[in-house]
Amino acid sequence: LKISPLGFLAGADYVKRVPPDIKSLLREEIEVQFKLWDQPVYRVTQLLEWLYIRRVTSWDAMTNLPKVLREKLRENFSLQSLELVRKQGSRDITQKFLWQLADGALIESVLIPANPSLYGEASDRHTLCVSTQVGCAYGCKFCASGLDGWKRNLAPNEIVEQVLAIERWNEAESRAKSPKSETEASPALRPSSIEERLINNLVIMGMGEPLSNYENLLKALRILNAPWGGGIGARKITISTSGLVPQIRRLADEPEQFRLAISLHGATDEVRQRIMPVNRKYPLKELTAALEYYQAQKDRMITFEYILIAGVNDAVEQTQPLGALAHHLRAKVNLIPYNKVEGLPWERPAEEVCED
Ligand code: SF4
Repeated sequence: LKISPLGFLAGADYVKRVPPDIKSLLREEIEVQFKLWDQPVYRVTQLLEWLYIRRVTSWDAMTNLPKVLREKLRENFSLQSLELVRKQGSRDITQKFLWQLADGALIESVLIPANPSLYGEASDRHTLCVSTQVGCAYGCKFCASGLDGWKRNLAPNEIVEQVLAIERWNEAESRAKSPKSETEASPALRPSSIEERLINNLVIMGMGEPLSNYENLLKALRILNAPWGGGIGARKITISTSGLVPQIRRLADEPEQFRLAISLHGATDEVRQRIMPVNRKYPLKELTAALEYYQAQKDRMITFEYILIAGVNDAVEQTQPLGALAHHLRAKVNLIPYNKVEGLPWERPAEEVCED
């Protein structure tokens, strides 16, 4: 057994040895367990309210569950939460949250104020960009997440927790601003309805290639989508991929109507190959065929993410193949000027080039 310098069990060893986290379970799985324990179904509803409406972080806070049931839960399941290491940005702009997981690994989530031109309609609420892996194996040349390679997949609860932890943080901030409400109820007991929640859009494009952690991602999204869980509509959840063809086809066959975004960043194999090694395995022809299949199954608009990098993919000649591909697939294109990453050679194009 390896112990990390932080004194935690290291990575995969930790994940194998701790009991499953309760927030990695679907309602029906908890119901099966409660039946084995001779617990009535309404106890499942009570537990889910503590987890997803009140968002408590300890078994002891679940005061309407019998003590003996809480003990059984404690013996058989983990109840992990994320520890906030650092937050950058302020309320009216993008805010980055650096979290420490139970094994000491670090991941990021990004909270973005609602923007009607991005992934959802105008709202006073926010979009959250979540991570799905620690590190990334795909090595896109412009991306900081892949610099140290892939460490491990996130478990479903670690994906779900990114949403809950931000909601908890938001609630604590609101309480600090209006201390009056603190006297009304203790933090652990103050429920919030789905309508009151901060996050109403999710984009799965933080650290990691989401579709290479397919099973855990789908389970987490089902929990976040469920009315008993996160209550976020499937149409308000966008899964982004660098272009994993078999998983795109698999996603097309799932019953949920999640949105799909492709990190394209090049409209020809030549350009895409230069910055995205995944294109060698799944060139544009195969990716296009998978996207045609996705659209035939889902009849939903796809989004192309296209980061403009100076001298790589920003030439005017790229607009023709990009436009043709977007037109063929009825895709929306998000052009995003590159943000310089320390230690990487790529630059943001000049303002005039982006406007052209
Ligand atoms: Fe970065 Fe995504 Fe490429 Fe991984 S797949 S290296 S996270 S852009």
